[in-house]
Amino acid sequence: MSVPRPRSVPLVGVLALQGAFREHVEAFTELGAATRLVKRPMHLEGLDAIVLPGGESTTQTKLLDSAELREPLTRALANGLPCFATCAGLILLAREVIDGRPDQMPLGVLDIAVQRNGYGRQIESFEAPIAITDIDITGLDGTGLDPADSGEWEFPGVFIRAPKIVHTGSVEILGRYNDSPVLVRHGAIWGATFHPELARDLRLHRAFLRSPSLVS
Ligand code: GLN
Repeated sequence: MSVPRPRSVPLVGVLALQGAFREHVEAFTELGAATRLVKRPMHLEGLDAIVLPGGESTTQTKLLDSAELREPLTRALANGLPCFATCAGLILLAREVIDGRPDQMPLGVLDIAVQRNGYGRQIESFEAPIAITDIDITGLDGTGLDPADSGEWEFPGVFIRAPKIVHTGSVEILGRYNDSPVLVRHGAIWGATFHPELARDLRLHRAFLRSPSLVS
């Protein structure tokens, strides 16, 4: 028997077709959210938000189609379902994918062009600080902004065969590494080229949970 959830606890769906979805489940669970693995269209019902995890975007795209999730997910996102997409998840949302498989058709809900493995094959993975702006983390777990601060803060970026955002259209750029965008937002849809769920730093997950579309 399922236990009713208090209204104040958001239900975060985590696309669980392939990739690093467990780490997101752990992160949101630690933050007190309820989570649900999303493998079929019925799992989208009643969600307050959805996470598209990292992994392998070519495989995820195929599985999205075979699970018949493409159309209902696209519709839910168009209807304003808040979304946190990381790495391969970001590739799924892009308007254009460079160096993808010829049959890899992204959902096109984020106005960006991304190049798969855009940091080259030699540097498969690396960690580097990301400069974040325009996300207010004041009061989040005591590690938030000093009110006297300029509004820019650092987040430990874990990049694993990361895509590179090579063009941005109508998106806000919230995070940069070496001057190139690595965290973008359009409405309630957040996309990161890195893996915040592997960083042992939950500030971005917390900030996402605090976004107006989720708390209102
Ligand atoms: N390179 C992967 C892809 O193209 C993404 C890597 C990741 O999600 N860590 O799908």
